[in-house]
Amino acid sequence: MKYHSIAIDGPAASGKSTVAKELAKKLDYIYIDTGAMYRATTYKALSIGVDLSNPYAYSFLDTTEFVFKFGELFMDGVNMTVLNRRKEVSDNVSLVASHVPVRNKLVMLQQNIAKQNNVVMDGRDIGTVVLKNADVKYFMVASVEVRAERRLEELKKYGTNFTLHELMDDIKRRDDYDSSREYNPLKQANDAILIDTSEISIKEAVALIYNKFKSKLKGESYNGN
Ligand code: C5P
Repeated sequence: MKYHSIAIDGPAASGKSTVAKELAKKLDYIYIDTGAMYRATTYKALSIGVDLSNPYAYSFLDTTEFVFKFGELFMDGVNMTVLNRRKEVSDNVSLVASHVPVRNKLVMLQQNIAKQNNVVMDGRDIGTVVLKNADVKYFMVASVEVRAERRLEELKKYGTNFTLHELMDDIKRRDDYDSSREYNPLKQANDAILIDTSEISIKEAVALIYNKFKSKLKGESYNGN
Protein backbone atom coordinates (compact mmCIF):
# COMPACT_ATOMS: atom_id res chain seq x y z
CA MET A 1 0.00 0.00 0.00
CA LYS A 2 1.22 3.48 -0.85
CA TYR A 3 1.03 5.95 1.99
CA HIS A 4 0.64 9.67 1.40
CA SER A 5 2.45 12.55 3.03
CA ILE A 6 2.37 16.32 3.28
CA ALA A 7 5.59 18.10 4.30
CA ILE A 8 5.45 21.51 5.98
CA ASP A 9 8.66 23.31 6.90
CA GLY A 10 9.48 26.80 8.03
CA PRO A 11 11.00 28.90 10.79
CA ALA A 12 9.82 28.87 14.42
CA ALA A 13 6.15 29.65 15.12
CA SER A 14 5.27 30.36 11.48
CA GLY A 15 1.91 28.60 11.85
CA LYS A 16 3.16 25.20 10.66
CA SER A 17 1.82 23.14 13.54
CA THR A 18 -1.65 24.74 13.59
CA VAL A 19 -1.98 24.23 9.83
CA ALA A 20 -0.56 20.71 9.94
CA LYS A 21 -2.83 19.66 12.82
CA GLU A 22 -5.91 21.01 11.03
CA LEU A 23 -4.97 19.28 7.77
CA ALA A 24 -4.37 15.98 9.53
CA LYS A 25 -7.80 16.22 11.14
CA LYS A 26 -9.51 16.98 7.81
CA LEU A 27 -7.74 14.11 6.05
CA ASP A 28 -7.76 11.66 8.96
CA TYR A 29 -3.96 11.44 8.72
CA ILE A 30 -1.44 11.29 11.57
CA TYR A 31 0.11 14.61 12.56
CA ILE A 32 3.83 14.34 13.31
CA ASP A 33 5.36 17.32 15.10
CA THR A 34 9.08 16.66 14.59
CA GLY A 35 10.02 19.73 16.65
CA ALA A 36 8.42 17.98 19.63
CA MET A 37 10.86 15.08 19.17
CA TYR A 38 13.89 17.41 19.27
CA ARG A 39 12.41 19.19 22.28
CA ALA A 40 11.69 15.93 24.13
CA THR A 41 15.25 14.75 23.42
CA THR A 42 16.50 18.02 24.93
CA TYR A 43 14.25 17.56 27.96
CA LYS A 44 15.59 14.05 28.55
CA ALA A 45 19.22 15.10 28.08
CA LEU A 46 18.71 17.91 30.62
CA SER A 47 17.02 15.50 33.06
CA ILE A 48 19.81 12.93 32.82
CA GLY A 49 22.42 15.68 33.03
CA VAL A 50 24.49 14.80 29.96
CA ASP A 51 26.89 17.29 28.35
CA LEU A 52 24.56 18.85 25.77
CA SER A 53 27.42 19.99 23.56
CA ASN A 54 28.76 16.44 23.11
CA PRO A 55 27.20 14.94 19.94
CA TYR A 56 27.89 11.42 21.27
CA ALA A 57 26.07 11.91 24.59
CA TYR A 58 22.70 10.96 23.13
CA SER A 59 22.92 7.17 23.02
CA PHE A 60 19.89 7.15 25.38
CA LEU A 61 17.87 7.70 22.18
CA ASP A 62 18.41 4.02 21.31
CA THR A 63 16.15 3.02 24.19
CA THR A 64 13.76 5.99 24.09
CA GLU A 65 10.21 5.45 22.86
CA PHE A 66 8.40 8.16 20.88
CA VAL A 67 4.69 7.70 20.20
CA PHE A 68 2.26 10.21 18.66
CA LYS A 69 -1.31 10.00 19.95
CA PHE A 70 -4.00 12.49 18.96
CA GLY A 71 -1.35 14.86 17.60
CA GLU A 72 0.62 14.89 20.88
CA LEU A 73 3.99 13.33 21.58
CA PHE A 74 4.46 10.77 24.37
CA MET A 75 8.08 10.00 25.27
CA ASP A 76 8.53 6.78 27.27
CA GLY A 77 4.80 6.98 28.02
CA VAL A 78 4.85 10.61 29.27
CA ASN A 79 2.86 13.33 27.48
CA MET A 80 5.50 15.93 26.51
CA THR A 81 3.18 18.77 25.39
CA VAL A 82 3.66 21.02 28.43
CA LEU A 83 7.17 19.84 29.45
CA ASN A 84 8.42 20.60 25.93
CA ARG A 85 7.48 24.29 26.31
CA ARG A 86 9.82 24.87 29.27
CA LYS A 87 12.28 27.71 28.83
CA GLU A 88 15.39 25.55 29.37
CA VAL A 89 14.16 23.26 26.59
CA SER A 90 13.62 26.16 24.13
CA ASP A 91 16.99 27.63 25.11
CA ASN A 92 18.90 24.43 24.29
CA VAL A 93 16.90 22.62 21.60
CA SER A 94 18.70 24.15 18.60
CA LEU A 95 22.08 23.06 19.97
CA VAL A 96 20.79 19.51 20.53
CA ALA A 97 19.20 19.47 17.05
CA SER A 98 22.50 20.46 15.43
CA HIS A 99 24.18 17.13 16.35
CA VAL A 100 24.50 14.62 13.50
CA PRO A 101 23.82 11.47 15.63
CA VAL A 102 20.67 13.07 17.08
CA ARG A 103 19.36 14.07 13.64
CA ASN A 104 20.16 10.70 12.08
CA LYS A 105 18.30 8.87 14.80
CA LEU A 106 15.20 11.10 14.81
CA VAL A 107 15.03 11.30 10.99
CA MET A 108 15.06 7.51 10.84
CA LEU A 109 12.20 7.28 13.36
CA GLN A 110 10.22 9.90 11.39
CA GLN A 111 10.76 8.06 8.11
CA ASN A 112 9.64 4.79 9.72
CA ILE A 113 6.35 6.36 10.84
CA ALA A 114 5.75 7.71 7.32
CA LYS A 115 6.41 4.27 5.81
CA GLN A 116 3.46 2.84 7.71
CA ASN A 117 0.98 5.73 7.89
CA ASN A 118 -0.50 8.64 5.97
CA VAL A 119 1.10 11.67 7.61
CA VAL A 120 1.19 15.42 7.78
CA MET A 121 4.67 16.19 9.11
CA ASP A 122 6.09 19.57 10.10
CA GLY A 123 9.62 20.66 10.96
CA ARG A 124 12.70 22.21 9.38
CA ASP A 125 14.05 19.46 7.09
CA ILE A 126 10.96 17.48 6.12
CA GLY A 127 10.86 18.48 2.44
CA THR A 128 14.66 18.45 2.04
CA VAL A 129 15.61 15.32 4.01
CA VAL A 130 12.92 13.33 5.83
CA LEU A 131 10.24 13.07 3.13
CA LYS A 132 11.96 14.02 -0.11
CA ASN A 133 9.10 12.32 -2.02
CA ALA A 134 6.21 13.91 -0.14
CA ASP A 135 3.07 14.39 -2.27
CA VAL A 136 3.12 18.14 -1.59
CA LYS A 137 5.67 20.35 0.16
CA TYR A 138 5.15 23.76 1.70
CA PHE A 139 7.47 26.29 3.29
CA MET A 140 5.66 28.56 5.70
CA VAL A 141 6.97 31.95 6.76
CA ALA A 142 5.63 35.02 8.64
CA SER A 143 7.10 38.18 10.14
CA VAL A 144 8.83 37.80 13.53
CA GLU A 145 6.17 40.05 15.16
CA VAL A 146 3.26 37.94 13.89
CA ARG A 147 5.02 34.74 14.93
CA ALA A 148 5.84 35.99 18.45
CA GLU A 149 2.24 37.14 19.00
CA ARG A 150 0.89 33.76 17.89
CA ARG A 151 3.31 31.89 20.13
CA LEU A 152 2.35 34.14 23.09
CA GLU A 153 -1.32 33.20 22.61
CA GLU A 154 -0.45 29.51 22.30
CA LEU A 155 1.74 29.50 25.42
CA LYS A 156 -0.97 31.12 27.56
CA LYS A 157 -2.87 27.84 27.24
CA TYR A 158 -0.01 26.03 28.95
CA GLY A 159 0.31 28.61 31.71
CA THR A 160 3.87 29.46 30.64
CA ASN A 161 4.98 33.04 31.31
CA PHE A 162 6.99 34.65 28.52
CA THR A 163 6.93 38.28 27.37
CA LEU A 164 6.51 39.19 23.70
CA HIS A 165 10.07 40.48 23.72
CA GLU A 166 11.47 37.20 25.08
CA LEU A 167 9.58 35.25 22.44
CA MET A 168 10.89 37.45 19.62
CA ASP A 169 14.43 36.92 20.89
CA ASP A 170 13.90 33.15 21.16
CA ILE A 171 12.45 32.93 17.64
CA LYS A 172 15.25 35.01 16.05
CA ARG A 173 17.97 33.10 17.88
CA ARG A 174 16.61 29.68 16.91
CA ASP A 175 16.01 30.73 13.28
CA ASP A 176 19.62 31.90 12.99
CA TYR A 177 20.97 28.75 14.59
CA ASP A 178 18.69 26.40 12.60
CA SER A 179 19.43 28.04 9.23
CA SER A 180 23.17 28.23 9.70
CA ARG A 181 23.87 24.73 11.06
CA GLU A 182 25.94 22.58 8.73
CA TYR A 183 23.90 19.38 8.76
CA ASN A 184 20.33 19.49 7.38
CA PRO A 185 19.70 23.19 8.02
CA LEU A 186 16.33 24.93 7.87
CA LYS A 187 15.90 25.48 4.13
CA GLN A 188 13.11 25.66 1.58
CA ALA A 189 13.13 22.58 -0.70
CA ASN A 190 13.39 23.42 -4.42
CA ASP A 191 9.96 21.90 -5.02
CA ALA A 192 8.27 23.44 -1.95
CA ILE A 193 5.62 26.15 -2.31
CA LEU A 194 6.12 29.29 -0.21
CA ILE A 195 3.25 30.54 1.97
CA ASP A 196 3.45 33.76 3.99
CA THR A 197 0.99 33.53 6.88
CA SER A 198 1.38 37.23 7.71
CA GLU A 199 -0.53 37.78 4.48
CA ILE A 200 -3.12 35.00 4.62
CA SER A 201 -4.95 33.50 7.57
CA ILE A 202 -4.25 30.04 8.98
CA LYS A 203 -7.68 28.96 7.72
CA GLU A 204 -6.81 30.09 4.19
CA ALA A 205 -3.47 28.29 4.36
CA VAL A 206 -5.22 25.05 5.36
CA ALA A 207 -7.72 25.36 2.49
CA LEU A 208 -4.96 26.12 0.00
CA ILE A 209 -2.85 23.09 0.94
CA TYR A 210 -5.88 20.82 1.22
CA ASN A 211 -7.08 21.70 -2.30
CA LYS A 212 -3.64 21.35 -3.82
CA PHE A 213 -3.15 17.97 -2.16
CA LYS A 214 -6.57 16.68 -3.24
CA SER A 215 -6.01 17.72 -6.85
CA LYS A 216 -2.58 16.09 -6.78
CA LEU A 217 -4.13 12.79 -5.64
CA LYS A 218 -6.88 13.10 -8.27
CA GLY A 219 -4.25 13.67 -10.97
CA GLU A 220 -2.45 10.53 -9.83
CA SER A 221 -5.56 8.38 -10.07
CA TYR A 222 -6.33 9.79 -13.57
CA ASN A 223 -2.86 8.69 -14.58
CA GLY A 224 -3.58 5.24 -13.25
CA ASN A 225 -1.09 5.46 -10.34
O1 C5P B 1 9.03 23.23 15.76
P1 C5P B 1 9.68 23.73 17.04
O2 C5P B 1 9.85 25.22 17.03
O3 C5P B 1 9.04 23.20 18.26
O4 C5P B 1 11.15 23.08 16.97
C1 C5P B 1 12.07 23.26 18.03
C2 C5P B 1 13.50 23.17 17.49
O5 C5P B 1 13.75 21.83 17.04
C3 C5P B 1 13.82 24.05 16.30
O6 C5P B 1 14.17 25.38 16.66
C4 C5P B 1 15.00 23.29 15.67
O7 C5P B 1 16.20 23.59 16.33
C5 C5P B 1 14.66 21.83 15.96
N1 C5P B 1 14.05 21.15 14.81
C6 C5P B 1 14.89 20.67 13.82
N2 C5P B 1 14.38 19.93 12.80
C7 C5P B 1 13.08 19.66 12.72
C8 C5P B 1 12.19 20.16 13.71
C9 C5P B 1 12.72 20.93 14.74
O8 C5P B 1 16.09 20.92 13.85
N3 C5P B 1 12.61 18.88 11.74
